[in-house]
Amino acid sequence: MRFPYFLARRFVAGESFQEALPAIRTLNNQGMRVTLDLLGERVTRRKVAETSRDAYIRLVRIIAKERARRAMQAGISIKLSMIGQKIDEEFCLKNLRMLLEAAKACNVFVRLDMEGSDATASTLSLFEETFPEYPDHTGIVLQAYLKRTERDVERMCALKAPVRLCKGAYKEPPEIAWRDMPVIRERFMACAQELMARGRYPGIATHDDQLISATKIFAANEGISRDRFEFQMLYGMRPQTQQEIVREGYRMRVYVPFGTQWAPYFARRLRERKENVWFALRHLARR
Ligand SMILES: Cc1cc2nc3c(=O)[nH]c(=O)nc-3n(C[C@H](O)[C@H](O)[C@H](O)COP(=O)(O)OP(=O)(O)OC[C@H]3O[C@@H](n4cnc5c(N)ncnc54)[C@H](O)[C@@H]3O)c2cc1C
Repeated sequence: MRFPYFLARRFVAGESFQEALPAIRTLNNQGMRVTLDLLGERVTRRKVAETSRDAYIRLVRIIAKERARRAMQAGISIKLSMIGQKIDEEFCLKNLRMLLEAAKACNVFVRLDMEGSDATASTLSLFEETFPEYPDHTGIVLQAYLKRTERDVERMCALKAPVRLCKGAYKEPPEIAWRDMPVIRERFMACAQELMARGRYPGIATHDDQLISATKIFAANEGISRDRFEFQMLYGMRPQTQQEIVREGYRMRVYVPFGTQWAPYFARRLRERKENVWFALRHLARR
Protein backbone atom coordinates (compact mmCIF):
# COMPACT_ATOMS: atom_id res chain seq x y z
CA MET A 1 0.00 0.00 0.00
CA ARG A 2 1.25 3.53 -0.84
CA PHE A 3 0.68 6.17 1.86
CA PRO A 4 0.56 9.89 1.08
CA TYR A 5 3.39 11.83 2.80
CA PHE A 6 1.09 14.06 4.90
CA LEU A 7 0.16 10.94 6.94
CA ALA A 8 3.78 10.24 7.81
CA ARG A 9 4.55 13.83 8.79
CA ARG A 10 3.93 13.24 12.48
CA PHE A 11 6.78 10.70 12.55
CA VAL A 12 9.07 12.07 9.80
CA ALA A 13 10.59 15.55 10.24
CA GLY A 14 10.80 16.36 6.52
CA GLU A 15 11.70 15.02 3.12
CA SER A 16 15.07 16.87 3.20
CA PHE A 17 17.56 18.10 5.83
CA GLN A 18 16.40 21.69 5.25
CA GLU A 19 12.80 20.67 5.95
CA ALA A 20 13.86 18.80 9.11
CA LEU A 21 16.02 21.68 10.41
CA PRO A 22 13.29 23.58 12.34
CA ALA A 23 12.32 20.38 14.23
CA ILE A 24 15.98 19.69 15.06
CA ARG A 25 16.46 23.25 16.35
CA THR A 26 13.30 23.09 18.45
CA LEU A 27 14.40 19.83 20.09
CA ASN A 28 17.91 21.18 20.75
CA ASN A 29 16.39 24.35 22.24
CA GLN A 30 14.29 22.15 24.54
CA GLY A 31 17.49 20.59 25.89
CA MET A 32 17.42 17.38 23.82
CA ARG A 33 20.09 15.88 21.67
CA VAL A 34 19.06 14.42 18.34
CA THR A 35 20.03 11.48 16.17
CA LEU A 36 19.39 12.06 12.48
CA ASP A 37 18.26 9.17 10.33
CA LEU A 38 18.43 9.75 6.60
CA LEU A 39 15.75 7.23 5.71
CA GLY A 40 16.50 4.29 3.42
CA GLU A 41 17.08 0.54 3.72
CA ARG A 42 17.45 -2.74 1.86
CA VAL A 43 19.36 -1.30 -1.08
CA THR A 44 20.11 -3.90 -3.76
CA ARG A 45 22.24 -1.90 -6.25
CA ARG A 46 25.87 -0.89 -5.69
CA LYS A 47 25.38 2.53 -7.27
CA VAL A 48 22.46 3.31 -4.94
CA ALA A 49 24.47 2.12 -1.90
CA GLU A 50 27.35 4.43 -2.88
CA THR A 51 24.99 7.34 -3.40
CA SER A 52 23.50 6.67 0.07
CA ARG A 53 26.97 6.50 1.63
CA ASP A 54 27.89 9.85 0.03
CA ALA A 55 24.62 11.41 1.18
CA TYR A 56 25.43 10.30 4.76
CA ILE A 57 28.98 11.68 4.50
CA ARG A 58 27.51 15.01 3.34
CA LEU A 59 25.11 14.91 6.29
CA VAL A 60 27.98 14.38 8.76
CA ARG A 61 29.76 17.45 7.33
CA ILE A 62 26.58 19.54 7.46
CA ILE A 63 26.10 18.58 11.14
CA ALA A 64 29.68 19.70 11.93
CA LYS A 65 29.06 23.03 10.18
CA GLU A 66 25.71 23.57 11.92
CA ARG A 67 27.30 22.68 15.26
CA ALA A 68 29.99 25.33 14.74
CA ARG A 69 27.42 27.95 13.69
CA ARG A 70 24.56 27.28 16.11
CA ALA A 71 25.66 24.67 18.65
CA MET A 72 23.60 21.88 17.04
CA GLN A 73 23.68 18.67 19.13
CA ALA A 74 23.28 15.84 16.63
CA GLY A 75 24.62 12.44 15.70
CA ILE A 76 23.45 10.08 12.98
CA SER A 77 21.91 6.62 12.74
CA ILE A 78 22.28 4.39 9.72
CA LYS A 79 20.91 1.07 8.55
CA LEU A 80 23.75 -0.96 7.07
CA SER A 81 21.40 -2.38 4.43
CA MET A 82 21.38 1.14 2.99
CA ILE A 83 25.10 1.03 2.21
CA GLY A 84 25.38 -2.45 0.73
CA GLN A 85 25.00 -5.04 3.54
CA LYS A 86 22.55 -7.05 1.40
CA ILE A 87 24.84 -6.86 -1.65
CA ASP A 88 28.25 -7.83 -0.27
CA GLU A 89 29.59 -7.49 3.28
CA GLU A 90 33.09 -6.45 2.16
CA PHE A 91 31.59 -3.69 0.02
CA CYS A 92 29.44 -2.59 2.98
CA LEU A 93 32.48 -2.59 5.28
CA LYS A 94 34.37 -0.35 2.86
CA ASN A 95 31.43 2.09 2.74
CA LEU A 96 31.06 2.01 6.53
CA ARG A 97 34.77 2.77 6.98
CA MET A 98 34.51 5.77 4.63
CA LEU A 99 31.54 7.06 6.62
CA LEU A 100 33.25 6.50 10.00
CA GLU A 101 36.40 8.23 8.76
CA ALA A 102 34.34 11.32 7.83
CA ALA A 103 32.45 11.11 11.14
CA LYS A 104 35.67 10.95 13.16
CA ALA A 105 37.12 13.93 11.26
CA CYS A 106 33.93 15.90 12.03
CA ASN A 107 33.51 14.48 15.56
CA VAL A 108 30.01 13.16 14.82
CA PHE A 109 28.68 9.94 16.41
CA VAL A 110 27.38 7.16 14.11
CA ARG A 111 24.88 4.64 15.51
CA LEU A 112 24.29 1.45 13.54
CA ASP A 113 20.55 0.74 13.65
CA MET A 114 19.53 -2.90 14.04
CA GLU A 115 17.29 -4.35 11.33
CA GLY A 116 15.57 -7.75 10.97
CA SER A 117 17.16 -10.89 12.45
CA ASP A 118 18.61 -11.90 9.06
CA ALA A 119 21.02 -8.97 9.56
CA THR A 120 21.83 -9.27 13.28
CA ALA A 121 24.99 -11.41 13.09
CA SER A 122 26.33 -9.47 10.11
CA THR A 123 25.64 -6.07 11.72
CA LEU A 124 27.36 -7.12 14.95
CA SER A 125 30.36 -8.48 13.07
CA LEU A 126 30.74 -5.33 10.91
CA PHE A 127 30.45 -3.29 14.10
CA GLU A 128 33.05 -5.35 15.94
CA GLU A 129 35.38 -5.03 12.96
CA THR A 130 35.22 -1.22 12.92
CA PHE A 131 34.63 -0.32 16.59
CA PRO A 132 38.29 -0.65 17.73
CA GLU A 133 39.30 1.98 15.12
CA TYR A 134 36.48 4.39 16.03
CA PRO A 135 35.65 3.71 19.70
CA ASP A 136 34.40 7.25 20.38
CA HIS A 137 32.42 7.67 17.18
CA THR A 138 30.29 4.58 16.79
CA GLY A 139 27.76 2.49 18.68
CA ILE A 140 25.28 -0.31 18.07
CA VAL A 141 21.64 -1.24 18.77
CA LEU A 142 20.41 -4.41 20.52
CA GLN A 143 16.82 -5.64 20.53
CA ALA A 144 15.42 -7.02 23.80
CA TYR A 145 12.91 -9.29 22.01
CA LEU A 146 15.66 -11.46 20.48
CA LYS A 147 16.59 -14.49 22.58
CA ARG A 148 20.27 -14.06 21.65
CA THR A 149 20.45 -10.50 23.04
CA GLU A 150 21.48 -11.45 26.57
CA ARG A 151 24.74 -12.86 25.13
CA ASP A 152 25.19 -9.86 22.83
CA VAL A 153 24.84 -7.54 25.83
CA GLU A 154 27.74 -9.45 27.45
CA ARG A 155 29.78 -9.09 24.24
CA MET A 156 29.15 -5.35 24.02
CA CYS A 157 29.87 -4.79 27.73
CA ALA A 158 33.20 -6.61 27.29
CA LEU A 159 33.98 -4.42 24.28
CA LYS A 160 32.91 -1.27 26.18
CA ALA A 161 30.73 -0.35 23.21
CA PRO A 162 27.85 2.13 23.53
CA VAL A 163 24.54 0.30 23.06
CA ARG A 164 21.07 1.61 22.31
CA LEU A 165 18.61 -0.88 23.78
CA CYS A 166 15.13 -1.12 22.22
CA LYS A 167 12.41 -3.79 22.19
CA GLY A 168 12.73 -4.50 18.44
CA ALA A 169 10.45 -3.44 15.59
CA TYR A 170 10.50 -6.35 13.11
CA LYS A 171 8.25 -9.39 12.79
CA GLU A 172 10.36 -12.29 14.09
CA PRO A 173 9.52 -16.00 14.53
CA PRO A 174 8.96 -17.45 18.05
CA GLU A 175 12.03 -19.72 17.74
CA ILE A 176 14.33 -16.70 18.01
CA ALA A 177 12.24 -13.94 19.55
CA TRP A 178 10.04 -13.40 22.61
CA ARG A 179 6.55 -12.33 21.60
CA ASP A 180 4.75 -11.70 24.93
CA MET A 181 4.96 -8.11 26.09
CA PRO A 182 5.52 -9.01 29.80
CA VAL A 183 8.44 -11.25 28.83
CA ILE A 184 9.89 -8.62 26.46
CA ARG A 185 9.65 -6.02 29.23
CA GLU A 186 11.34 -8.37 31.69
CA ARG A 187 14.15 -9.11 29.17
CA PHE A 188 14.46 -5.40 28.36
CA MET A 189 15.00 -4.51 32.02
CA ALA A 190 17.49 -7.34 32.57
CA CYS A 191 19.54 -6.09 29.60
CA ALA A 192 19.13 -2.43 30.60
CA GLN A 193 20.40 -3.13 34.12
CA GLU A 194 23.42 -5.00 32.82
CA LEU A 195 24.24 -2.21 30.35
CA MET A 196 23.79 0.50 32.97
CA ALA A 197 25.90 -1.31 35.55
CA ARG A 198 28.68 -2.66 33.31
CA GLY A 199 28.33 -1.08 29.87
CA ARG A 200 29.24 2.28 28.41
CA TYR A 201 26.69 5.09 28.20
CA PRO A 202 23.62 3.04 27.17
CA GLY A 203 20.64 4.58 25.38
CA ILE A 204 17.36 3.35 26.87
CA ALA A 205 15.12 3.63 23.81
CA THR A 206 11.46 3.22 24.71
CA HIS A 207 8.18 5.12 25.11
CA ASP A 208 6.99 2.59 27.69
CA ASP A 209 6.27 4.17 31.11
CA GLN A 210 6.90 0.89 32.96
CA LEU A 211 10.42 0.64 31.52
CA ILE A 212 11.17 4.33 31.96
CA SER A 213 10.15 4.18 35.66
CA ALA A 214 12.06 0.95 36.27
CA THR A 215 15.18 2.51 34.69
CA LYS A 216 14.95 5.59 36.91
CA ILE A 217 14.48 3.44 40.03
CA PHE A 218 17.40 1.16 39.15
CA ALA A 219 19.69 4.15 38.50
CA ALA A 220 18.71 5.75 41.82
CA ASN A 221 19.12 2.50 43.82
CA GLU A 222 22.49 1.71 42.27
CA GLY A 223 23.81 5.27 42.48
CA ILE A 224 24.20 5.51 38.69
CA SER A 225 24.38 9.20 37.89
CA ARG A 226 22.13 10.74 35.22
CA ASP A 227 25.03 11.54 32.92
CA ARG A 228 25.96 7.83 32.56
CA PHE A 229 22.97 6.91 30.40
CA GLU A 230 20.30 8.58 28.29
CA PHE A 231 16.67 7.99 27.40
CA GLN A 232 15.83 7.92 23.71
CA MET A 233 12.49 8.35 21.93
CA LEU A 234 11.28 8.71 18.37
CA TYR A 235 10.34 12.02 16.77
CA GLY A 236 6.60 12.66 17.13
CA MET A 237 6.09 10.11 19.92
CA ARG A 238 5.20 11.42 23.41
CA PRO A 239 6.70 14.92 23.00
CA GLN A 240 5.32 16.02 26.40
CA THR A 241 6.93 13.05 28.12
CA GLN A 242 10.22 13.82 26.35
CA GLN A 243 10.16 17.32 27.84
CA GLU A 244 9.18 16.07 31.31
CA ILE A 245 12.12 13.68 31.34
CA VAL A 246 14.45 16.60 30.52
CA ARG A 247 12.85 18.72 33.26
CA GLU A 248 13.49 15.89 35.74
CA GLY A 249 17.20 16.19 34.94
CA TYR A 250 17.70 13.12 32.72
CA ARG A 251 19.31 13.14 29.32
CA MET A 252 16.95 12.69 26.37
CA ARG A 253 17.81 12.03 22.75
CA VAL A 254 15.22 12.12 20.00
CA TYR A 255 15.61 10.03 16.86
CA VAL A 256 14.67 12.28 13.95
CA PRO A 257 14.07 10.53 10.62
CA PHE A 258 13.91 12.50 7.40
CA GLY A 259 14.09 11.87 3.66
CA THR A 260 11.90 10.64 0.86
CA GLN A 261 12.23 6.90 1.67
CA TRP A 262 9.90 7.11 4.67
CA ALA A 263 7.36 4.37 3.80
CA PRO A 264 8.95 1.30 5.57
CA TYR A 265 9.69 3.40 8.69
CA PHE A 266 6.13 4.73 8.76
CA ALA A 267 4.71 1.20 8.27
CA ARG A 268 6.70 -0.03 11.34
CA ARG A 269 5.27 2.81 13.45
CA LEU A 270 1.74 1.86 12.34
CA ARG A 271 2.32 -1.83 13.05
CA GLU A 272 3.66 -1.40 16.56
CA ARG A 273 0.88 0.78 17.95
CA LYS A 274 -2.80 0.85 16.99
CA GLU A 275 -3.15 4.48 18.21
CA ASN A 276 -0.76 5.47 15.41
CA VAL A 277 -3.13 3.89 12.87
CA TRP A 278 -6.07 5.85 14.33
CA PHE A 279 -4.00 9.01 14.12
CA ALA A 280 -3.31 8.38 10.41
CA LEU A 281 -6.96 7.50 9.68
CA ARG A 282 -8.23 10.63 11.46
CA HIS A 283 -5.94 12.78 9.31
CA LEU A 284 -7.09 11.00 6.17
CA ALA A 285 -10.75 11.56 7.13
CA ARG A 286 -10.14 15.30 7.68
CA ARG A 287 -8.95 15.75 4.07
C1 LIG B 1 15.24 6.03 19.72
C2 LIG B 1 14.73 4.72 19.20
C3 LIG B 1 15.48 4.02 18.27
C4 LIG B 1 15.03 2.78 17.80
N1 LIG B 1 15.84 2.04 16.98
C5 LIG B 1 15.45 0.80 16.61
C6 LIG B 1 16.32 -0.07 15.87
O1 LIG B 1 17.45 0.28 15.53
N2 LIG B 1 15.87 -1.30 15.56
C7 LIG B 1 14.61 -1.75 15.94
O2 LIG B 1 14.26 -2.91 15.66
N3 LIG B 1 13.77 -0.94 16.62
C8 LIG B 1 14.16 0.32 16.95
N4 LIG B 1 13.30 1.10 17.69
C9 LIG B 1 11.86 0.71 17.83
C10 LIG B 1 11.65 -0.16 19.04
O3 LIG B 1 12.25 -1.41 18.84
C11 LIG B 1 10.14 -0.37 19.31
O4 LIG B 1 9.56 -0.99 18.19
C12 LIG B 1 9.38 0.89 19.59
O5 LIG B 1 10.11 1.80 20.36
C13 LIG B 1 8.06 0.55 20.34
O6 LIG B 1 8.33 0.02 21.61
P1 LIG B 1 8.17 0.90 22.95
O7 LIG B 1 8.91 0.22 24.03
O8 LIG B 1 8.62 2.28 22.67
O9 LIG B 1 6.62 0.99 23.26
P2 LIG B 1 5.42 0.03 22.83
O10 LIG B 1 5.79 -1.39 23.07
O11 LIG B 1 4.94 0.43 21.46
O12 LIG B 1 4.33 0.47 23.87
C14 LIG B 1 4.41 0.05 25.24
C15 LIG B 1 3.59 0.99 26.09
O13 LIG B 1 4.24 2.27 26.12
C16 LIG B 1 3.25 3.31 26.13
N5 LIG B 1 3.37 4.09 24.89
C17 LIG B 1 4.06 3.76 23.80
N6 LIG B 1 3.96 4.73 22.86
C18 LIG B 1 3.15 5.66 23.38
C19 LIG B 1 2.65 6.91 22.90
N7 LIG B 1 2.95 7.38 21.68
N8 LIG B 1 1.84 7.62 23.72
C20 LIG B 1 1.51 7.18 24.95
N9 LIG B 1 1.97 5.99 25.46
C21 LIG B 1 2.77 5.26 24.68
C22 LIG B 1 1.90 2.62 26.20
O14 LIG B 1 1.56 2.45 27.55
C23 LIG B 1 2.19 1.26 25.57
O15 LIG B 1 1.29 0.28 25.96
C24 LIG B 1 13.75 2.30 18.21
C25 LIG B 1 13.01 3.01 19.14
C26 LIG B 1 13.47 4.20 19.65
C27 LIG B 1 12.67 4.91 20.68
